[in-house]
Amino acid sequence: MIKAPVSNDLFLRAQNSIPGGVNSPVRAFRAVGGNPRFIVSAKGPYMYDEDDNRYTDFINSWGPMILGHAAEVVQEAVQQAIPNSLSFGAPTRKEIEIAELIVSMVPSIEKVRMVNSGTEATMSAIRVARGFTGRDKIIKFEGCYHGHGDSFLISAGSGAITLGVPDSPGVTKGTANDTLTAPYNNLDAVKTLVDAKKGQIAAIILEPVAGNMGLVTPAEGFLQNLRALCDKEGIVLIFDEVMTGFRLAPGGAQELYGVTPDMSTLGKIIGGGMPVGAYGGKREIMEYVAPAGPVYQAGTLSGNPIAMSAGMAMLTYLKEHPEVYTQLRNTTDKLVSGMEQNMQQLGLNFTVNQIGSMFSIFFTQQAVTDFDSAKTSNTAFFGRYFNAMLDRGIYLAPSQYEALFVSTAIGEEQVSQYIQANLESLKEAQQG
Ligand code: PMP
Repeated sequence: MIKAPVSNDLFLRAQNSIPGGVNSPVRAFRAVGGNPRFIVSAKGPYMYDEDDNRYTDFINSWGPMILGHAAEVVQEAVQQAIPNSLSFGAPTRKEIEIAELIVSMVPSIEKVRMVNSGTEATMSAIRVARGFTGRDKIIKFEGCYHGHGDSFLISAGSGAITLGVPDSPGVTKGTANDTLTAPYNNLDAVKTLVDAKKGQIAAIILEPVAGNMGLVTPAEGFLQNLRALCDKEGIVLIFDEVMTGFRLAPGGAQELYGVTPDMSTLGKIIGGGMPVGAYGGKREIMEYVAPAGPVYQAGTLSGNPIAMSAGMAMLTYLKEHPEVYTQLRNTTDKLVSGMEQNMQQLGLNFTVNQIGSMFSIFFTQQAVTDFDSAKTSNTAFFGRYFNAMLDRGIYLAPSQYEALFVSTAIGEEQVSQYIQANLESLKEAQQG
């Protein structure tokens, strides 16, 4: 059993000056019980807390650290950039280089605008889609999370569902009315909405692989059918690849599934751990963005030179080392088959969803294909399992409604440690 007295004290202290003691809700461990660990440093597969405990990390800063923590290629690029000053608020050569690199990697992107988070990317993308089409409404899917922009906090996944506020107070009725929702993987529901609001839908936005209700993959033909529907109805199809971009393939889920949206949003890996997001798409749509066009979007720190250096190093590495994706998949396959054996041995009801280096366990016997089926998972069991894993030095996402992300720093040793801890933790969770 890992002890964390310093983290416990810090969490008490944090609550006096920070809402809930954290700067992003899920970090508070509310859904799983217990106190969060305050992290001091991380290297490769490991994170170290204020009590000198070591954890093998399966979240990797919620996705960005695909090469493990403090990857040398990224660290060196940042160190080289720092002496030139931290921000200019004026254009730099690096911004062109990273834009060209993104255009070369992501099939849908002909032009791209850098922002500072995934939230900014999705908020901006729907504004541009609205400006481009002259329409107001958008369709999103239940359990998908697109950041905390008002328009998206309707049936939202991730922390919003973990904390039981899928429809956040503070979002005006007017805004909420412009967001229509459909169950994930349900084309008929989308068609019904489109027919009911003929000529009013600006955009359909989705995670092409959903990671924010736990991991849910698109059903056969779902993405292709949405593409065809959008073409027919003049709707802008937006893939939110904040999680999946550069993770499932160098060109993200759109490359993997061979479906090209009109616009894409990016975050996480694109900044190599620095706060970066981006949105991009077809030339004629992106020409609507100021100052080329009338749709306003701006950022004091956008294209920040340090963040661009980290992102450039990360993306260049991934583009030049496509074997990374095979390695990540092989590692994740081993984790998943080990877990499946454990759960069968213990006679547990479970579903494991996996694609490439993303996976989730749901404690349910149902297939998990949408938000409703995700919610059949036994979350009390998940909470016990999470804490038992933490006690064994394995750091998972502290919520059922999140995906796990494997990094290249996870090797044979960490895989064995994980599978052993999984068996023991499941047994412990079964005891109640
Ligand atoms: N879209 C998706 C698919 C995400 O997973 C997230 C964050 N997990 C966001 C948008 C929001 O990104 P950020 O937290 O950087 O604002």
